[in-house]
Amino acid sequence: MKLGTLFKDALHALFSRAATEPYPNPQPNETERLRGRLMWAPEGCTGCNLCVKDCPANAIDLFVLDKKAKQFVMRYDVGRCTFCGQCMQSCRFECWHAANDDWSLAGTTVDGFTYYYGEEDDVERVLAEPVEEHPVKV
Ligand code: SF4
Ligand code: SF4
Repeated sequence: MKLGTLFKDALHALFSRAATEPYPNPQPNETERLRGRLMWAPEGCTGCNLCVKDCPANAIDLFVLDKKAKQFVMRYDVGRCTFCGQCMQSCRFECWHAANDDWSLAGTTVDGFTYYYGEEDDVERVLAEPVEEHPVKV
């Protein structure tokens, strides 16, 4: 980088508004495009498993209880998620979206980072099994 450009950039940075926002007070504005916690809706899901395969962080798992009856449960680990949005791109049925009002996700322990999405009864059924040994996990 040329010295002149360096000084120009330094001067620009000195007299520009900070790119970062204060946190936690005041709470920054939630913009339309902000990617917070990933949310999953089971209605359109076909159980194709594409979003799971494409997730670069291994943050999601699909449990197929009954494919014909479209009974699925999705496990989402927000602690692993990189908010890349690949799951939203991969799903042709728009089952995934990023909540722009749920983004303050830090915690001091790993508890509470795992979410189960699906019908309540189905989630209870998945939780009743030792999850890693669940026979319907794909
Ligand atoms: S946003 Fe990216 S890392 Fe997070 S669940 Fe979707 S694909 Fe995985
Ligand atoms: S890509 Fe969409 S349809 Fe396929 S398993 Fe994921 S959420 Fe379901």
